[in-house]
Amino acid sequence: MAQVGIGGGHDVEGRMGGDGLHARVDARRRRLVGGGAALGALAIGGCAAIPDPGANLPGAGPARGEWLLRGGYVMTMERSVGDLAGADVHVRDGVIVAVGRALQAPGARVIDARDMIVMPGMVETHWHMWNTLLRSMSLDEKKFGYFPTALGLGRHYVPGDMYAGTRLACAEAIHSGITFVHDWCHNIRTPTHARENLRALSESGLRGRFSYGTMQGHPVDQTMDLADLERLRADWSRHDAGGRLALGIAWRGVATGGTGAIKAEASRRDIAEARRLGLPVSVHLNNSRARAGGIAQVAKDGLLGPDLQAIHAVWVTPEEVRALVDSRAAVSISPFTELRIGFGVPPTSTFLQAGIPLGLSVDTTALSGNADMFGIMKVTQNAENARTENEFQLPARRVLELATIEGARSMGMADRIGSLAAGKRADLIMVDTRAINLGVFTDPAHLLVEAAQPGNVDTVMVDGRLLKSGGRLTALDPARVVADARESLAALRKRANWW
Ligand SMILES: [Zn+2]
Repeated sequence: MAQVGIGGGHDVEGRMGGDGLHARVDARRRRLVGGGAALGALAIGGCAAIPDPGANLPGAGPARGEWLLRGGYVMTMERSVGDLAGADVHVRDGVIVAVGRALQAPGARVIDARDMIVMPGMVETHWHMWNTLLRSMSLDEKKFGYFPTALGLGRHYVPGDMYAGTRLACAEAIHSGITFVHDWCHNIRTPTHARENLRALSESGLRGRFSYGTMQGHPVDQTMDLADLERLRADWSRHDAGGRLALGIAWRGVATGGTGAIKAEASRRDIAEARRLGLPVSVHLNNSRARAGGIAQVAKDGLLGPDLQAIHAVWVTPEEVRALVDSRAAVSISPFTELRIGFGVPPTSTFLQAGIPLGLSVDTTALSGNADMFGIMKVTQNAENARTENEFQLPARRVLELATIEGARSMGMADRIGSLAAGKRADLIMVDTRAINLGVFTDPAHLLVEAAQPGNVDTVMVDGRLLKSGGRLTALDPARVVADARESLAALRKRANWW
C-alpha cells in the first residue's frame, strides 16, 4: 500500500498473544472515528465488559458459535498471504482464530466449503438505505427524476417507512454478500425516524456505520437536529448492537442535489458539532460538472481531514486530489448511479495512484435498481478501462480489494474487517463456484468481478453469526420483508399522491 488513510495500519496494531488477542488502538485514531467504531475495536480484545454483539438481534437470532469452514478456496485479501486452495477458516466467538490448511478445531461445527470461494464479506461505503422503498422509481422525465422523487416521497415518510425501507436494504445486502454498510441517512424528519432506521440496521445482524443527517427538504439555513444528534451520541450504547454499528454524520457540505446551496453558517455548525462529538464526517462533493469545486471550497475552509469521506468526487482537479491526499481524507464512488444520473465516470485510478483510501458504494437503488456489489465491481473495472482506453488499467484483483480491504480502510475499519486473518472479526462469505454462471473455475478474481452475482452467495457470516446459509437468509424472512415494504410504499404513494 503506498499510503493508508484513517483506517490504515499506521494507527492500529493487533496481534495474537498466548492468552488471547490484544489490540492497541491509537488514542488519536479513536477520537477520529468516534464512539461506535472505538467500541468495535475494543471488542477485539475480548474484554469481558463488552456486551454480546448480537444482543440486539430479535428473538431467536442465529447463535454466534464456533465454526470450521473446511476445504474452501480461501481468498484472504491479505497481500502477504494471497489465496489458499483447499484451506480452512476457524471462527470462535465472532473472531477469526486461524486461516490455513488442515486446521484442528475439535468442538467446532464444520461447514463444508469445498467448491466454494471463501472471502471477506464485501464492504459498502455509502447507501441511502431508507429510500430502497423507491427502487427503480427515478423515471425518464425531469419531474420524476431521482432528486424530485426522493424529495417528493421522502417528505411523506413516517417512521415505519424508514424501518421498512432500511430492512429491505439490509436483506438485500445480506443476500448479495455485503457484510458492512454505510447507511447515509438524509431523511431524519423526527428523532423517531432515525431510531426506526437504526432498529432495522441493528436487527439485521449487519455491521456498519449510521450517518445521521438532515431530512429531505430541510431548510438550507437550518442545522440538522444537533440536540438529537448529541442525545444519540450519548446514548449510543443502546443502538450500536454491541459494537457492530458506529455513528457518523451525513454532512450536506456546500450544496445538495435536493435543495441546492446550503447556507455556510448552518453547514459549518453541523460539521463543527460532529467534530466536537468525535464523529466521522461523510459528504457528497464534486458530483457533477455543475458541482465542481466543492472539494476546493471545503479545503479552503480548512474542513478536510482524515475523518472525512468525500462521496463521488467525479470532477476533481489535481489540486483537489492533492488536498485530499494531504488531509488523508477518503473517497467513495458509486459508478452505477454516477453513470445512470449523468454525473460522469469516476476517475478511479487517479485516487488509487494518489494513495487515497477508496471504497465502492450502492448509493441508492432508486437509481441503481439493485445492490449487487459484484455488478458494482464489474462496472468499476469496465468504466475505468473505458475511460483510460486501456484493457489493463484496473486489474480485477485490485477491484476486489476495493470491495473488501480497501473499502474497509476507507471506512476506518481495516484493523477489524476486510480480509481474512487471525484476530479479525468473522465477517465472511462463501460463493458457490458450481453455479452455471461460474461453472468453470478459472481465475477467481476475474470470476468474482466479471461473472459472479448475488444468487451465487451461499453463506454470509457477520461477527461469527450465520445470516445466510445454504443460499437462504436465516435472521430475516424475505417474504415478510418484501410484503412489509410493499405495504409501506403503497401507503406512502397514496399520502404523497405520487404515481
Ligand atoms: Zn449519495
